[in-house]
Amino acid sequence: MLKRSFLLYDRGLNNEFDMTTLRYIHHDQLSESISCLDGLTSGDIVLMIESRSEFTRVKHHKKKIAFWISAMRHFADSLRKKGHEVLYHSLDHAQSADAFLPEISRIVQDKNMSEVVFTEPSDYLTLQKILSWKADVSVTVTMRPDNRFLCSQDEFKTWAGSKKQLRMEFFYREMRKRHAILMDKDQPIGGQWNFDSENRKPPKSGLTIPAPFSQPVDDISEQACRVANAEFPDHFGSVAPFYFAVTRAQALVALSSFIKQRLENFGHYQDAMIENEPWMYHSHISFYLNTGLLLPLECIRAAEHAYEHSGAPLNAVEGFIRQILGWREFVRGIYWLKMPDYAEENFLEAKRDLPAFYWTGATKMNCLKQCVTETHDHAYAHHIQRLMVLGNFALIAGLHPDAVNEWYHIVYADAYQWVELPNVTGMILFADGGFLGSKPYAASGAYINKMSDYCKNCHYNVKDKEGETACPFNYLYWDFLERNYDKLHKNQRMSMIYSTLRRMSPEKRKQIADDSQRFLEQLSMGDFD
Ligand code: FAD
Ligand code: SF4
Repeated sequence: MLKRSFLLYDRGLNNEFDMTTLRYIHHDQLSESISCLDGLTSGDIVLMIESRSEFTRVKHHKKKIAFWISAMRHFADSLRKKGHEVLYHSLDHAQSADAFLPEISRIVQDKNMSEVVFTEPSDYLTLQKILSWKADVSVTVTMRPDNRFLCSQDEFKTWAGSKKQLRMEFFYREMRKRHAILMDKDQPIGGQWNFDSENRKPPKSGLTIPAPFSQPVDDISEQACRVANAEFPDHFGSVAPFYFAVTRAQALVALSSFIKQRLENFGHYQDAMIENEPWMYHSHISFYLNTGLLLPLECIRAAEHAYEHSGAPLNAVEGFIRQILGWREFVRGIYWLKMPDYAEENFLEAKRDLPAFYWTGATKMNCLKQCVTETHDHAYAHHIQRLMVLGNFALIAGLHPDAVNEWYHIVYADAYQWVELPNVTGMILFADGGFLGSKPYAASGAYINKMSDYCKNCHYNVKDKEGETACPFNYLYWDFLERNYDKLHKNQRMSMIYSTLRRMSPEKRKQIADDSQRFLEQLSMGDFD
């Protein structure tokens, strides 16, 4: 007989009643300070499930699944070592095949639990599932805010108000003030909020790029890699080499090696791409931030400390902090503000299927081949590879947002819908019509040539503008502007580029249209490489 259930939105206060509590930890909530563990006491049970249905909601990269499994098992061990009771279902457990909610119901009945405590899940669909499930269970269900972020959903909603467009820069300034980060009283340190004019240099030869964080694969990780390979053989990507930190202690080492070895050059070479150098001077901490192994404020404070005490340059420190305090919090705010409609956005009415080379890397376009291959091998590509190579192509070739979103969700070890969707739908595809970004990030081959060495080894010639040998980005860029004239020409930030297009001769515009049509037809028929 089912009893009435309660959903309490708890703001973190310990429960004053004597209850036997089940605390559910989702696979991206691996933090001992996560809100659902607040008040953890003897008699409580912490539940963790390697849920097959979660791991296959999209066919996640094998390395990502191995990372989840290893990090979850290490996390469970660390809680047990502290004396807590952890009920852990590994993938081979009978109930792990199911979604986690039926299993929670079963445990609640079997063990006569009186309360289930969740931390808000990071994605909309899971939240909806929990909300509808709670109507059928016989216990108090408490949902606590996700304290892995610095801006709550309510705070973001208040900031967004009724603005028609949201701009990260203004949000970021508010966050700097609110958290007193890089501030001199109410003024930004260094006299300006943003030092990007000093950043974003092209790569130069002779750069020494430190090796990324790695560590010996321990027994738990080895087992996790084996499980990922055996259970998900048809998923994208390779498990080896496996180099991820899988505990909080290791993630802290990864953070501090970034601060010591890479931060100094982070700003200057933030947008640079070099063949066979996937890691550049980036931090590679998104996997840890998004699973709770690291917390945003400690990463921000570590960079700020390096500026104050170790001479780290302000352009690099501010640039790095802006990514976490600004972009990361901003895209999450937009996600919760705009879901569920955001997942349906397709402002430019893009229709094309995802080309096969996004999976195989088999293309003569060297930039795309490099980025797909590195994504396959590492479940990682840095921001400019995601934005200006893979994303730029998806935008100017008119790939459908559903296909592009699914791909990004699958292939990156840091990808969760809350962060992937706004970056894809808003940032790269302009599918939200400019709510997140003021103009599409479309670019010709000249940008990729300036910021990388990819063009040197390409079948295509980046200097050629037309014909079979021309870099496809060159004509697709102009064709994208032509195709989307009605939707984009009134955008003030596009007015210069549209006046350049208007000044082109009719012959040149026809050549662009012909080259693009030939290319896109081949792409659609799948006989393009
Ligand atoms: P760094 O360059 O060292 O930056 C530091 C941190 O800033 C990152 O770890 C990340 O937490 C944060 N950050 C930087 N830019 C963004 C951003 N635009 N949105 C959110 N956080 C940001 N990031 C994800 O964490 N998960 C994703 O699924 C994801 N998908 C993306 C898809 C596209 C199309 C694009 C353009 C970007 C995406 N990003 C995503 C943002 C960014 O590319 C990654 O966070 C970054 O590449 C991770 O590598 P890093 O830790 O070395 O980052
Ligand atoms: Fe990419 Fe064009 Fe350069 Fe080739 S020439 S690497 S396709 S930008």
